[in-house]
Parts: sequence; structure tokens; C-alpha cells
Amino acid sequence: MVDFQQLKLSVGIEEVARNFLELSLIPYEDTLRGKCPTCGTDDPRALLITPGKGLWYCFTKKVGGDLIALVAHVSKISQRESAESLANVYMVEKKQEQKTDGALEPLNYLEPAHEQCAALGFPEPVATLVGVGYASKGMMRGTVAVPIRLPNGSLIGYIGITEAKVPKSWRIEPCQS
Ligand SMILES: [Zn+2]
Repeated sequence: MVDFQQLKLSVGIEEVARNFLELSLIPYEDTLRGKCPTCGTDDPRALLITPGKGLWYCFTKKVGGDLIALVAHVSKISQRESAESLANVYMVEKKQEQKTDGALEPLNYLEPAHEQCAALGFPEPVATLVGVGYASKGMMRGTVAVPIRLPNGSLIGYIGITEAKVPKSWRIEPCQS
């Protein structure tokens, strides 16, 4: 079920009219005017859209409303079908952003100031910034835990490193910010 309020916050009526419905509209003061493809008259001003208010009005049928009702009127579909087709286009990114399933909570007992961190190339400010720390307990015990994150920032695990196991090419170049 589409959240109508959320949908209306995600997209404006002008974007929907011009790009989703591909209506050709002419600006007139703070409104847009065009033919109403549903009602089929040649009146080039039959359809009135007021982007500032998110509203429209069809002078031929004498009906109006919000952007969901506009798509329903022009595409001759129900309001629910209208909301669903708009949500498919304009709310997809939102859904993906909210999907953080599988992300872990950071270990809260890591010690970023531990000498082992500095020895491995993580001075305390850098270790704190990136979430690196020495683990004195748990599965990572006795290692410096380095977080592994997805591009969206979700934590998916840690790599435990000890001084004895540092790869030869291991090198941290913290960004100066
Ligand atoms: Zn109409």
C-alpha cells in the first residue's frame, strides 16, 4: 500500500505533469496551462496546474485535486493505480536506502587508543574515526579489529590483525579532513 503523503513529499506536480504524463504545458503567471488529453477538447487552456499549491483543475470536466488525482484523470485509471505507478518511478530509491538488513552493530568494547593500533598504523584519532580498535575480549580477542563496510556504510564484519600478521604492503593513508 502506497503512503500518499510520502509520495507527495517525494515528487512535485509539475515534474509529474511534464515528465511522467508528458503533457505540454505553457506557463501563465504562477500556473501552467495545457490541453487535457482525457477530455479531448482543443482548448489549449483546459487544464490548469498550480505547482506552488500542488493542485490542478480540468475546466472541461470541472474536476481537480492533487498529483495522484491528476495521473488518475489523465491516464484514466483509479487513484490507487495512479499512486502505485507513481511510487514505482519516484519512491524506488527511498526503499533501497531504508534497506539495511544484515548490518551489524559496532563492537562497543574496542580500544582505539591501544598501542597495538598505533603500531599497526592507526594512531588514536584515525582509529576512532574509522572504528578500528584493539579487542581485549570476544572473538577478535588479542587482535586489532578493522571494520568492513558496504559502500552505504553498513557494517558487515571485522578483520582481526596482529602485528605478527601484518601484510608487507599494509599501509594506512588517512585522508586529511
Ligand atoms: Zn480533463
